[in-house]
Amino acid sequence: MSFINENQINQILKKTSQPQKQRVEEVLNKALTLKGLELEEVSVLLNIYDNASLNRLFNTALKIKEEIYGKRLVLFAPVYVSNYCSNNCLYCGFRKDNKEMKRRCLTLEELKEETKFILEQGHKRILMLMGEHTQKCGFEYFLKGLRAAYSVSDSKENTIRRINIEIQPLTEEQFQKLSKEKIGTYTVFQETYHKATYKKMHPIGKKADYEWRLNTMDRALNNGLHDIGIGALFGLYNYKFEVMALIQHAQHLDKTFNIGPHTISIPRLEHAQNAPVAITPPCKVSDNDFKKLVAVLRCAVPYTGIILSTRESAQIRKEVLNLGVSQISAGSKTNPGGYKEASANSENEEQFSLSDTRSSGEVIKSVLKQGFIPSFCTGCYRRGRVGRDFMDLAKPGLIKQHCLPNALTTLKEYLEDYADEETKKIGTELIKRKLNEISDKDVKQKTTMYLNQIEKGERDLYF
Ligand code: SAM
Ligand code: SF4
Repeated sequence: MSFINENQINQILKKTSQPQKQRVEEVLNKALTLKGLELEEVSVLLNIYDNASLNRLFNTALKIKEEIYGKRLVLFAPVYVSNYCSNNCLYCGFRKDNKEMKRRCLTLEELKEETKFILEQGHKRILMLMGEHTQKCGFEYFLKGLRAAYSVSDSKENTIRRINIEIQPLTEEQFQKLSKEKIGTYTVFQETYHKATYKKMHPIGKKADYEWRLNTMDRALNNGLHDIGIGALFGLYNYKFEVMALIQHAQHLDKTFNIGPHTISIPRLEHAQNAPVAITPPCKVSDNDFKKLVAVLRCAVPYTGIILSTRESAQIRKEVLNLGVSQISAGSKTNPGGYKEASANSENEEQFSLSDTRSSGEVIKSVLKQGFIPSFCTGCYRRGRVGRDFMDLAKPGLIKQHCLPNALTTLKEYLEDYADEETKKIGTELIKRKLNEISDKDVKQKTTMYLNQIEKGERDLYF
């Protein structure tokens, strides 16, 4: 079943290729109502080029972001379990034909060590990933890895509170098994929604099957999962087409299951070892177009988290935080074992190179200086506010009652346990200011109480 209608997307993009200023204004005003946009409206915004309209778009995206997310920014770190892969995606360093790659599947002990290292940087949520290889590191082993990662604690006795996962499309039976585990969001990127390009990029292996991948989230939601994330790898095909297709995918899920994607990821192609397509991307997305697409997505799906990884440079990351990105990774490594064993030769083991190589501590300090609240919150998923329940709270804006307090309490934990003096000072002042933004008297009082308890050594207090 394909719910991606290429002809329809192309026709709409063509029809709206030169939008009138007045139409742009109408669409931006609709976006401000936080009800989301239709495909034709998304296309109007994607076709904006003049600076005045672009600035209007950026300001609108910022207003929407502030309205829904305030200054919160959720942080996570990726953990790679294995770089074995039987696929040959032309853009990826893990691809089968990259004979220079040193292959490795972490032992459970190694995985625990990686997790401890990440915990010591203050993270509470991780994203677990791996290449696709049924023999060398299959789904059952991944499940053991999940449990191993949850089982460790660091020197402050903190543990990982949420593991999101990004592994190959699973079968119905596998989803049923996965749904019984403690997991956060399950994500798969379609890479490109353009079928002919998809076929070129994925010549062999299970991943060569476009429909199998496209229908992953239908299988997931039909078999017990609640929280799913989608994404496209920008640079493989025309970015406007990919954004329209992402929206079509989101609309399909919303219509069929009454659950939209919890997150949309927007990776851009990065250099990867022996990966010809990554070295010369066929449809490279410029920084300006990238900023535009982030802002358009924020207008189109206001309640969906937008995730940005350390693939992007520190400068671009700074800019797009104001345009709609709500989650970022920090201090990342893309090779199995990369945290504990940071080595000069990591290129032989990593999936792609990173542009932002700052440590988690540096990223956190920098976002605090920009006035954002780094949040390590995992409250929704642990209180069962997932899937439809989450959307029911998010859409009328009710989720905010929990988010800001949880962001402040988790930041407080970070400041107490892991921050240097400068970060602690900036963070403490920010918490004081933001506490005053909590309008509900009872919530404010309880948050103040939690903050005091955390200072005295209690942990994991949340709404
Ligand atoms: N192997 C599984 C799969 O492909 O579905 C799991 C995810 S893979 C480890 C994570 C993602 O990395 C891929 O979906 C792809 O979008 C992205 N990726 C691969 N090569 C990349 C590159 N050169 N630059 C940026 N992202 C890349
Ligand atoms: Fe394997 Fe995933 Fe890389 Fe493709 S993107 S080669 S499936 S790890």
